[in-house]
Amino acid sequence: MTTNTTDRKTVRGVFEPGSEHWVGDGFPVRNLFPSNGLVQQMDPFLMLDYAGPVEFPPAQHPKGVGEHPHRGFETVTIAYQGAVAHRDSSGSAGVIYPGDVQWMTAASGVVHEELHEREFSLRGGMFEMVQLWVNLPAAHKMSKPGYQAIASGQIPSVPIGEGATARVIAGELPGAKGPAQTFTPINVWDLRLSPGASAALPLPAGHNASIVLLRGSVTVNGAAADAGPRLILLSREGQSAVVEASADSLLLVLTGEPIDEPVASYGPFVMNTQAEIMQAIADYRAGRMGRLS
Ligand code: MN
Repeated sequence: MTTNTTDRKTVRGVFEPGSEHWVGDGFPVRNLFPSNGLVQQMDPFLMLDYAGPVEFPPAQHPKGVGEHPHRGFETVTIAYQGAVAHRDSSGSAGVIYPGDVQWMTAASGVVHEELHEREFSLRGGMFEMVQLWVNLPAAHKMSKPGYQAIASGQIPSVPIGEGATARVIAGELPGAKGPAQTFTPINVWDLRLSPGASAALPLPAGHNASIVLLRGSVTVNGAAADAGPRLILLSREGQSAVVEASADSLLLVLTGEPIDEPVASYGPFVMNTQAEIMQAIADYRAGRMGRLS
């Protein structure tokens, strides 16, 4: 693939994680946004937490996050190392292993738990995950909850240059269409580059776009990110990016058509107005988002 340099997206900044904290007792995360103050620039993406990589010792009781609600958006969990078990009030449940993706549409509301999978917990080992929150347009915030269990084998992998591959989780690259069904046009690609590899990525003009370097060292359109994790923010204009790696690198490419609606958020609820947030809190307290059996 070749791209015309005049069509390239401009690098707006390279950001370090804006916060570092634990989610429950199972996910030591570094947050790439919105803790940096990156909000409108990321629309339709709301949040990205990078958990690990970290070694967990064997534990009798699976660590993680117990029963908690979500409303108004989707939670996408991408597994790199370790295993996570999920169970929610709409009756969906599943375990994701390295390469798998869990795409949960909370929409009108679910209560779920996210725990280290039992066998992984007993054995212990390396753990590395990403959780990405994808906003829903107002018209779908109160839709029925959904759940897509996307196994590694369903995710097409395409060469994007010598020593460079992309797994298309959502959206499209020439020759590959991602299995995730989404409510608005987005791309989520899992990129792996070897040292010295270079990849020219076609990125939609008009989409907000960013490249998250999880591990490794790259330049994107000439801007350096020497160590992960870093978020490389690109302009909405332009339709390509060239990624060059100087070490084994693991990246996540995110692009999306902005939803461009008001955002009111409070913890696990992301709606359009403060009144809708108050309603979400009341509905959760009254058990209207269901309960785990
Ligand atoms: Mn959750």
